[in-house]
Amino acid sequence: MRTTQQGGGFIGSENDRLVFFKSAIKGGFEFIDLEHDSPLLDKRASDLKGAKIICSYHDLKGTPPPNTMVDILVRCAAKGDVPKAAFMVGSMSALLDLIDAARLFSFTGKDFSLMGMGELGELTRICASELGVGFTYASLERGKEAAPGQVDLQTMKRLAGERIVTGIVGHPLSHSLSPAMHNAAFATLGLPGRYVVLPTMDHELETLLQVAVELDMRGFNVTIPHKVSILPLLDRLDASAERVGAVNTVLIEDGQFIGYNTDVYGATMALRSAGVEGKGTTALVIGAGGASRALVCALSDLGARTFICNRTKEKAESLARSFKNVRSIEMADAQKENFDVVVNCTPLGMKGFPDELPIGPEVLRSGQVVMDTIYNPSKTRFLAEAERKGAVIINGEAMLVNQGLKAFEIFTSKQASYEVMLNALRGVLY
Ligand code: NAP
Repeated sequence: MRTTQQGGGFIGSENDRLVFFKSAIKGGFEFIDLEHDSPLLDKRASDLKGAKIICSYHDLKGTPPPNTMVDILVRCAAKGDVPKAAFMVGSMSALLDLIDAARLFSFTGKDFSLMGMGELGELTRICASELGVGFTYASLERGKEAAPGQVDLQTMKRLAGERIVTGIVGHPLSHSLSPAMHNAAFATLGLPGRYVVLPTMDHELETLLQVAVELDMRGFNVTIPHKVSILPLLDRLDASAERVGAVNTVLIEDGQFIGYNTDVYGATMALRSAGVEGKGTTALVIGAGGASRALVCALSDLGARTFICNRTKEKAESLARSFKNVRSIEMADAQKENFDVVVNCTPLGMKGFPDELPIGPEVLRSGQVVMDTIYNPSKTRFLAEAERKGAVIINGEAMLVNQGLKAFEIFTSKQASYEVMLNALRGVLY
């Protein structure tokens, strides 16, 4: 029943609101939430007697410094029985400021609510008890959220108790498929878990680690552009992350940050599912970026003689030097060779990128396994061409789902279902 000036949708008069609230009190409602500048606050001791007043403050634009947030809560506390404030959280440091403000105000011993709005605000609602707030807000149903960042009641109930909070750290994250995959796995297993998006700029990685500890997060996935830059901030790496020199999963255990690379596992499982044995086979990896690193590591671990070709030759050479049994090769020379396995690790053919083949079609032939790390579209021109030539083809779905399954296991010690994650992924994509 917020008025349009207060950011709500109610278009009746103040008197209409008063009549409604009076009947609500009569009907047994114990709390009424009024905006801090609402004239109805003056009726607290008269017409609205019988209910406690939550005095609310909303800032849809941003998050002021912690002391200002505390001041706002103090002013709301003076006007109502319970102060509540919500701020749009636009960055990791704003989120940390909000956590600091909650800690400071909790020293008053007063019941209060403080929450963030927007993508990053979701954490403040899920982790309300870590913030020390007495209550938070949820939507009655999914899709009926009254504020950005609000979570539905059914999910909030599942998260009661000892919850597992994870997420994905990167920038930008608008197209990330991981939240759908992990949240579907949590819901299907009935686990009190939630996977959130944590858009984080380069200079805010350390702040993110502070936030993760403050809110007792179990861990998070890491994506572009932080897979390498996060390395110096971690306490230790597992063998896969050490070998690849990049991290896509971080577990927080006893305050320590442990880095893993589940892309290698994802790539290995995808190759195996297509029948790649490794020993005695030769493989060509096209591209020398992050995905190539995982594929080259997986192929080299499987025992394949692996070649890398890339638009920028020096990058292929440098990547090849980091592994045994791996060499770089010129694109033109690769086209004359017979490979058992060919993998595209460039974005060529991906939705939004040029619909071009990453290498000449003469490299493709019958009996090969041809993998594209791209999953959107599900069949790139590269895969269609390989299929036409009689190759066994596989797209990037299996790698993506398997890296997610392994990360989920690292976070929860539980096995999620491949089909559940795959269906969730396809639900978002197609
Ligand atoms: P990246 O680190 O930016 O590397 C991209 C690679 O592609 C580089 O080697 C780059 O060559 C090459 N490249 C880019 N544009 C090109 C062009 N127009 N012509 C020729 N080569 C080009 O990216 P990434 O993270 O490795 O991602 C690459 C692909 O893998 C993307 O399609 C991504 O969706 C996919 N991927 C899939 C999974 C999965 O789980 N299925 C996981 C990660 C990534 P230069 O070195 O010359 O720039």
